[in-house]
Amino acid sequence: MKVTFIYPSIALSGFKASSGETLLRNIHHGLCYLSACAKMAGFATELIDLSILSGWDHFRREVESKKIEVAAITIMSPDFPYAIKAVDIIKEVNPRAVIIVGGIHPTIAPEELTSNPKIDYIVRCEGEKAFVSLLESIKSGKKAQKVIFGEQMPMDELPYIDRYLFDCLESPWDFFMPMPFFTIMAGRGCSYNCRFCAPASKMVHGKGSRRRSIASVMAELKELENIYGMKSFMFHDDCFTEDEKWVMEFCDAYRQAGFRLPFICQTRADIICRHPDMIRKLAHVGLRMAQIGFESGNDRVLRFISKGVTLKQNLEAARICHSNGIRIFANYMLGLPTETNAEAWDTVRMIKKIKPYRASAAFFTPHPGSYLYDYCKEKNLSLIDDHEDVVPIPEEDKPKIKGVDYAFLKTAVAESRKLPLRTKIMERMDKALFNRHNRRFLRMFRDLVGRYPGRHKLDLLRMIKEGRI
Ligand code: SF4
Repeated sequence: MKVTFIYPSIALSGFKASSGETLLRNIHHGLCYLSACAKMAGFATELIDLSILSGWDHFRREVESKKIEVAAITIMSPDFPYAIKAVDIIKEVNPRAVIIVGGIHPTIAPEELTSNPKIDYIVRCEGEKAFVSLLESIKSGKKAQKVIFGEQMPMDELPYIDRYLFDCLESPWDFFMPMPFFTIMAGRGCSYNCRFCAPASKMVHGKGSRRRSIASVMAELKELENIYGMKSFMFHDDCFTEDEKWVMEFCDAYRQAGFRLPFICQTRADIICRHPDMIRKLAHVGLRMAQIGFESGNDRVLRFISKGVTLKQNLEAARICHSNGIRIFANYMLGLPTETNAEAWDTVRMIKKIKPYRASAAFFTPHPGSYLYDYCKEKNLSLIDDHEDVVPIPEEDKPKIKGVDYAFLKTAVAESRKLPLRTKIMERMDKALFNRHNRRFLRMFRDLVGRYPGRHKLDLLRMIKEGRI
């Protein structure tokens, strides 16, 4: 039996095959884990990634040509309408196809899916084990419950993700990360309770976080380097640095194994302040950029969102990163409920002091599954009436909540993004040093794709590494 995974993530970028880049993409770790587990149990898997199709007619042709038996669709909140449209088309083409949905949205809002007669099964929480059992039931013709709760597996019992599900090169997080670039997960979950985010992650992964063994992470990194020629990577964990002891031991193992590859991770300002030695060690072994959710430059707002950090810690964390040569990817948010224009400007001032390499501003958006989503509902603040509007992009002309001066915030975002001269010079030097490698690599790789049409991109990487081309 074959499983066709559907990745309907087009809320941000839309269909783009006709106009845009399809070689460089982001992979979805959740789908890749499911695919690996399904393959281990003897099922064939394939993918339809909406983001590389030209539109719904293209999707229909794909569905027709693949003769879908079982479709498994992951749904994030903004992608909900696209996932439902995909379900409708699959059932139109083959009413007997079995449709399974899972991922964050079905976990936090199953009531939006249970009454849809075209959806056969809803898998909530971590789905690997439940998904494979469900496939076995379907194969043997047995009917299972419509809503199934997944159970957690020990991290080291999960297989490595099936990177072959996505036929692409992973897009480097930033141009100074040399290609081939990969993403990897060292663990799952997050112990914190930021009100704009939590408890969605806890609903999927449970309280707290858990990590793979260092040996398992090291073995996967070795495989990526030895087989596919990995030159840089990113830890995709919500907060890679939660467990200081684990990180310190990882740094030792990484160095002892002879790795020198640069990497990126996500962390928090309070952790950086508490463990400057860990940050020094991470920088020493290869951490080149830290993605940090500073969120606000105002202590009252930081308390309101339960960020668990202070403005002082945000600034100190930035100082520690700079002193260790770590570039900062700053996430911050404007337009939070109760935030005044003056408080929003405090965030602009903070970002200017932080001097990030990348200033990634967002407009607060009430995300289903978060405490502030419930708060906005209770206070009748939300202006979001479509799932696809659950995207926090400041460039969008769609207000998110009532009582926010979005015209003022746009000015604030523009001001916060003005790079200081020092950062501009650093970026120019980075471009001179690193960009050449990636441009040359991509030129050579595109040439190979032309010479070996239909070959999986990972196979091409493998051939390059083995010196066969
Ligand atoms: S914003 Fe980050 S640290 Fe806070 S709860 Fe979400 S994942 Fe955890």
